[in-house]
Amino acid sequence: MSAEEKENNKPGHFINTIIDKDRANGKHGGKVHTRFPPEPNGYLHIGHAKSICLNFGLAEEYGGPCNLRFDDTNPETEKMEYIEAIKKDIKWLGFNWSGEICYSSDYFQKLYELALQMIDEGIAYVCELTPEQTREYRGTLTEPGKNSPFRDRTPQENRELFEKMKAGEVEEGKMVLRAKIDMSASNINLRDPIMYRIKKAPHPRTGSAWNIYPMYDWTHGLSDSFEGITHSICTLEFQDHRPLYDWYLEATHVPHRPQQIEFARLNLDYTVMSKRKLIQLVEDKHVHGWDDPRMPTIIGMRRRGYSPKAIREFCDRIGVTKKDSCITMSTLESVVREDLDETSPRAMAVLDPIKVTITNFPEGEVEKLSAQIHPKKEEMGRREIPFTKDIYIDREDFMENPPKGYFRLSPGGQVRLRYAYVITCDEVIKDDQGHVVELKCTYNSDTGGGKTPEGMKKVKGIIHWVSATESLKSEVRLYDRLFNVPNPLGAEKDYLEYINPESLIVKKNAYVELSMHGALMGEHVQFERVGFFCVDYDTTEENLVFNRTVTLKDAWLKQNSGKS
Ligand code: ATP
Ligand code: MG
Repeated sequence: MSAEEKENNKPGHFINTIIDKDRANGKHGGKVHTRFPPEPNGYLHIGHAKSICLNFGLAEEYGGPCNLRFDDTNPETEKMEYIEAIKKDIKWLGFNWSGEICYSSDYFQKLYELALQMIDEGIAYVCELTPEQTREYRGTLTEPGKNSPFRDRTPQENRELFEKMKAGEVEEGKMVLRAKIDMSASNINLRDPIMYRIKKAPHPRTGSAWNIYPMYDWTHGLSDSFEGITHSICTLEFQDHRPLYDWYLEATHVPHRPQQIEFARLNLDYTVMSKRKLIQLVEDKHVHGWDDPRMPTIIGMRRRGYSPKAIREFCDRIGVTKKDSCITMSTLESVVREDLDETSPRAMAVLDPIKVTITNFPEGEVEKLSAQIHPKKEEMGRREIPFTKDIYIDREDFMENPPKGYFRLSPGGQVRLRYAYVITCDEVIKDDQGHVVELKCTYNSDTGGGKTPEGMKKVKGIIHWVSATESLKSEVRLYDRLFNVPNPLGAEKDYLEYINPESLIVKKNAYVELSMHGALMGEHVQFERVGFFCVDYDTTEENLVFNRTVTLKDAWLKQNSGKS
């Protein structure tokens, strides 16, 4: 498709506009080559998904490659575990990187040689200011910095010192290599930025081969250049680093010049996305791990029951802009809900059971009723629903002293059991403490199939139920937002104070329809009137475990805004 055709066919975003223009001008021979560059210091989250969809998506759209590059320049915080997890998450989202996986650490030697070249050209020097002095010399936003006293070392001296740094002969923090740019530059990033620091930590991939590690800005643009990246897409906070990105490409005379383009990162309310915070949540056991379904991680959302398609659709809908904003969790949830509504089979489940005895139904008999698996999709077939003398209904669907207009079950009242009959509540049985433990009801056998016989008043309430004898006992985990304020990091107290104590409620005594027998891990279901659920990995032969993926309606909005 030509740029022009594309303009007519697709709404696109500002990055499309940039790329279309580049292609029209024949820049990079019209090629598009992107990369996704995670640092392997944590698991991927929904913000990364946005970047993945953007980078892999653009490559797909323009028929170019997208690299996966691990930006592994901080040995202390990076782990092989994270590398493996990131690979898995990208594949699960439905993307494939081109060729071999790249690692910034693969370029350590090449970067080192370019640094030596800069030293020889007199545009890099070894500096021995302490970190405090370095800060002091840097100046402020309104005042220029001062030249380091080590700035005018000869290339010869710099080379010797830099080689010593590399060989491990200098202590951590005693020396750094800096680019010689301009200490009075209005952009602070250009005030002789650090290129290398000494770290005597072993690296997950290069072991103890290196005692010096390159800084992000120095590494990133050059890695982009080595790989032939054309459009290097990153988040807005790097906008002020772009002049440095370009400076390094120029200073090293590398033949290929990629272009950095910034977009606004994804922020979501009621959660946190900083990796440091996510690590803290896991390590301090505020959640049950990186894959806890309350986490904004890809692996958490996966366990929660979000599909890759829903996540991609969400990323698509929120769009790509240059303006920071915060997307509501409700937006994400409504995309998930739409996706699940399409595909999920239906079943009934009772999470807080009260036993109901149908006194006029024969003991031991099982009447096989049936219902469509999906109300709008006949082709998905039907399921069998056994009706028996003992059934369960949800505690929420019974009220001893109902207010006016209550259509569910109450003493002497009637309700329709979904796909079954109308029952009348004749007697309420309580335990010693006055808790309702059983309802004795009678059913009207003429009300099957949704019928209301002549002369009978139509029953307004319909509730779900399951047979007490022909059902599966299971554990249901009700997940909700992890925090109870929209912006836990911007609130008054420490963010941990805002963890929602009801973000996980476990119902150990739930009963689900027999049609869920043999449900597989990850399988989705809508428990009618209750929500969308999926089968959790913790499921065993003895214990069927469901996770609530999302409620049927946006209950949160209702509770917390007092409206609607
Ligand atoms: P943190 O600062 O929490 O460590 P990070 O942004 O540094 O996170 P990286 O692993 O470096 O994490 O990110 C890999 C890529 O994902 C980068 O290109 C980054 O810009 C992008 N990215 C990270 N977070 C978001 C976000 N919230 N929205 C969009 N893109 C993001
Ligand atoms: Mg980063």
